Amino acid sequence: MIQALRGMRDIAGREARIFQMIEEKARYYFELYGYEEIKIPIMEMTELFSRGIGDMSDIVQKEMYTFEDRKGRSITLRPEGTAGVVRYYIEKGLDKNDPVQKLFYTGPMFRYERPQKGRFRQFYQFGVEAFGIESYLLDADTLDMLVAYFTAIGIKNPVVKLNNIGCSQCRPAYNGALKAYLHKHADELCPDCRQRIETNPLRVLDCKNEKCRAVTQLSPDIGDFLCDSCRKYDEELRDILTRRSIPFERDRFLVRGLDYYVRTVFEIHGGEGAQNALMGGGRYDGLVEALGGRPVPGFGFAIGVDRLVALLSDTGLFEKNLSDLFIAWSLTDKVPLLEKSSALRKCGLSVEFLADERSLKNQLKYAHKKGYRFVVLLGDDEAYSEEIHLKKMDSGDEVYVSPIDIREHLI
Ligand SMILES: [Zn+2]
Ligand SMILES: [Zn+2]
Repeated sequence: MIQALRGMRDIAGREARIFQMIEEKARYYFELYGYEEIKIPIMEMTELFSRGIGDMSDIVQKEMYTFEDRKGRSITLRPEGTAGVVRYYIEKGLDKNDPVQKLFYTGPMFRYERPQKGRFRQFYQFGVEAFGIESYLLDADTLDMLVAYFTAIGIKNPVVKLNNIGCSQCRPAYNGALKAYLHKHADELCPDCRQRIETNPLRVLDCKNEKCRAVTQLSPDIGDFLCDSCRKYDEELRDILTRRSIPFERDRFLVRGLDYYVRTVFEIHGGEGAQNALMGGGRYDGLVEALGGRPVPGFGFAIGVDRLVALLSDTGLFEKNLSDLFIAWSLTDKVPLLEKSSALRKCGLSVEFLADERSLKNQLKYAHKKGYRFVVLLGDDEAYSEEIHLKKMDSGDEVYVSPIDIREHLI
């Protein structure tokens, strides 16, 4: 038997319905806030990711699906979406000619990680990238959109965790202070973090290792090092979030490990297991330049869809909709089956029946297994009647109604 690749999975049935709802709502909210969809390729030149994500990052070092194509070029399956969107932005000359762009993408990403619960080698993300605008108002508007979105899909109490990690003016002094502190405690850190002291000290702050967390509790606070313009930016953002009643809290250990991230970085937490982030993002004013474009400000985020699907799977929603009908039939003349189906579909109802001939009992068993809440019974007696014989599955109640009025009974 041929099986799916390790770490790859199929998404079907109830999970697929949740997935579809999450995606439809994301599109709806992203468009509501002025973002337009872009479909980017699944494969790119490897160099795009090594430059865009950073040669030293775990993703580039260990987790990419990289191979040579037939001409010997190094190609990589995208491990994330931002690099591809930025490549598009520069390739089309938008950084020079039309810098303000608000784009979103959805789709599968690929990372060769050890598969574990909730983590797959092919996983799905939605992401948003806004280019050409440097303002706390954009950050605030985006956070407003995300809280509205998570609330709409049924995540309870979404909270924004927020930090300001400074800019090229003020971060070097902070990095220096942090390095000095970490060197003093080097032998208490995990091996990865000992290396990070020189290569990427900020990343020590979000290490999940308990010993490292203990060390960083007393480390210097970036908040004490911000330059005047970063401080003002931070205050204005927090002020407007407070006045708009968007729930947030500062988390000084929240960082993005890449040099081109500046100022705002954030995560959103919520639902069961609120200690885990639903998503993360931030301001990356140096990324377009790092990939060969002009210095254009950027702001973006990515949402991991697989985890959202898993969270919502436990809610008990997402069985068949009220407007999904199943016709259980037993007819001498089969034409009325198609006529009734068609009449109901014209009323906007989704209709399924089993086209092979089975006993009514078997048909009802099938409808029950599929989660239908209403069934239409169609026998020779009902074949030529205007009315629909409707049965509610949980109570067993039956009524005769005309197709036009049927919606009133689907409750
Ligand atoms: Zn600054
Ligand atoms: Zn560590």
